[in-house]
Amino acid sequence: MKQPDAPAGPAAATRELIRFDQVTKRFGDHTVLDRLGFSVDAGKHVTLIGPSGSGKTTILRLLMTLAKPDEGTITVAGRQLFPAGEKQIREIRKDIGMVFQQFNLFPNMKVLRNITEAPVTVLGLSKDEAEERARELLDLVGLGDHVDKYPGQLSGGQQQRVAIARALAMRPQVLLLDEVTSALDPELVAGVLDVLRDIARSTDITMLCVTHEMNFARDISDEVLMFDSGRVIESGSPDKIFNDPEHARTREFLSAVL
Ligand code: ADP
Repeated sequence: MKQPDAPAGPAAATRELIRFDQVTKRFGDHTVLDRLGFSVDAGKHVTLIGPSGSGKTTILRLLMTLAKPDEGTITVAGRQLFPAGEKQIREIRKDIGMVFQQFNLFPNMKVLRNITEAPVTVLGLSKDEAEERARELLDLVGLGDHVDKYPGQLSGGQQQRVAIARALAMRPQVLLLDEVTSALDPELVAGVLDVLRDIARSTDITMLCVTHEMNFARDISDEVLMFDSGRVIESGSPDKIFNDPEHARTREFLSAVL
């Protein structure tokens, strides 16, 4: 049954969640992002590819307010990130979950507590509600039997899956994934990517991924942005970017990594 407040028609169905407008970021005299513009609609899975040092991680760090742009504007769900008061930044950060290369779990907390900690302290969930949510997510990432372990008792791939569950426990609107498999032993990569494929398929979460896993990018992306020297030099569907790239630099990059 149609809900009375459900958005009507295709125009209402697209909602811009992230927007970069003329964003420049410099470190010293090195311009890492150069008047960058792109946007991500809610529910879409967008992948950033390109050579090392082209500025991809910096984009995720700006969204997490771990770095500040020198020029330009960044908005998340219509709210501007810089400048923004502390309260607004806290609100925006609740909408954003991030999974890092290094899993960054709390080593002294069991798996369950790693996941419940922020929902209890930041969102104000009761311990029972947070544990119920955590157990569902641990099932989703295939670790339902590991709630009582410490991170150090898990493989890197399992720790990364806990980190994914931990990010999702905050029910963010967008999940930022920064080369989440690059610190893993090769035999553990597939398990983590399968979990992410599953999440991309079965939830409506927006994803912004930096990855060197081109098959994964091809599978999950609605749009792929090819970066070089702090700018998007080409963007499009995975089919276009991987099978029919326009830019010589994209062809060169893909032939080196595929
Ligand atoms: P990518 O993710 O595409 O590999 P990054 O965003 O990590 O690229 O980095 C882009 C460039 O910015 C690199 O040349 C990197 O050395 C530089 N850089 C990133 N963070 C810092 C920092 N905190 N201080 C100085 N330079 C930085």
